[in-house]
Amino acid sequence: MAAWSDWKYYRIPNRLIIFGIVSGIMSLVFQAADLEAGSKIPWLLLALSGFLVRGVAVLVLGIFLHSLGMIGAADLKLVALLAAWLGFSETIKILCVGFILGAVWSLQKMLRYGSAFQRFLYLSAYIRQILSNKKIEKYYGNKVYMRGLIEFTNFCKNNCYYCGIRRDNKNASRYRLTEEEILDCCKNGYELGFRTFVLQGGEDPYFTDEKIVDIVKKIRNSYPDCAITLSIGEKTKESYRLYKEAGADRYLLRHETANEDHYRHLHPEQMSLANRKQCLRNLKELGYQTGAGFMVGAPGQTLECLAEDLIFLKELNPEMVGIGPFIPHHDTKFADEPAGSVELTLFLLSVLRIILPKCLLPATTALGTADPKGREKGLLAGANVVMPNLSPVKDRKKYELYDNKICTGDEAAECRVCLKNRVKSVGFELVEDRGDVAL
Ligand code: SAH
Repeated sequence: MAAWSDWKYYRIPNRLIIFGIVSGIMSLVFQAADLEAGSKIPWLLLALSGFLVRGVAVLVLGIFLHSLGMIGAADLKLVALLAAWLGFSETIKILCVGFILGAVWSLQKMLRYGSAFQRFLYLSAYIRQILSNKKIEKYYGNKVYMRGLIEFTNFCKNNCYYCGIRRDNKNASRYRLTEEEILDCCKNGYELGFRTFVLQGGEDPYFTDEKIVDIVKKIRNSYPDCAITLSIGEKTKESYRLYKEAGADRYLLRHETANEDHYRHLHPEQMSLANRKQCLRNLKELGYQTGAGFMVGAPGQTLECLAEDLIFLKELNPEMVGIGPFIPHHDTKFADEPAGSVELTLFLLSVLRIILPKCLLPATTALGTADPKGREKGLLAGANVVMPNLSPVKDRKKYELYDNKICTGDEAAECRVCLKNRVKSVGFELVEDRGDVAL
């Protein structure tokens, strides 16, 4: 009756439970009546106390599960009644049969409504989230680190097919910041609480090694408590050494794809995957906290490519990994290609958190561009870094790697409160800290 009512009305009425208790007690009384005169009362007392103890024991245990939302109140009452009446082992048997019937019923229901796949996704997302949050908590607690991103030049000698600031894009409006402007960005950033500055740019020959060394030294002297990150492309090991000696701590150089054919599909002949990988190894050898990464859903990317990316990253063991969805730029040959999937990016963030538990993983600007809640979702999937824009507002729009790249609003460094609240909304805490990799 209870099962029928639960199925039909999604409820088990209290009347039914009371009826169960009364009939349970009555059945004991009837059983006692059949016994010999002298043993009637003691047997009945014993049986009734057993009834009571079992029922109360299940209720007490169950209230704990109920408070965690794992069992409904009516279900609990019913299970307590069964245990009181039939004993523990019979109840467990009934519960097992009930679970199996329930599972079969739910499965057919999901199949009928076509929601099985959706449910499976929810379940896998839930498992991923638990796994990745466990890993992240071990090393970083619930802290989220912020990096001030200074995009200091959009001149580039390279011609990566996907990138909006590629050399051959004649429509790009080019700019480069002066040394003073860069230092002003740092000053502004420091006041806003940033303790890491990321200098990113195209491969701009104007910024010779001497100029970069000079800028890095100035930042290092003015802000000894801050980390300096460079992201200025492929250089010789000697150049990387000079920047390191000048005071740079970290370097971001996405490998873009670990698959040779795919690399060719995304880059012109002059560039090579071998060199990109060598640069990453050189950076690691020089003692940089090194960041690699790739775009999710880049044109021509297959699941095999992604598998190769993950294997490459596991081998390289970088301290940072930047991934974000590919987003087309109207002035590139990939203008009409579809953007990468946010879901897949989130999935890969979780996988990365699991295979490289200590790595610093940004919830990237591309993720925030593809989905207004992209960065919050990224944090929930295992990311622990945000990189707001610290570049001068007048130039921000020009560092247009892809269409509609967000650069003002909540993601801008100026609005730290917005950012803090966003991070807080998903249960994390934005901290003022260099945020070095965990040892
Ligand atoms: N010149 C530097 C910085 C490149 S820009 C370097 O070579 O490392 C930073 C990153 O933006 C790139 O590594 C690339 O992965 C990403 N990017 C470029 N174009 C993009 C696009 N259309 N969609 C999404 N991400 C893109």
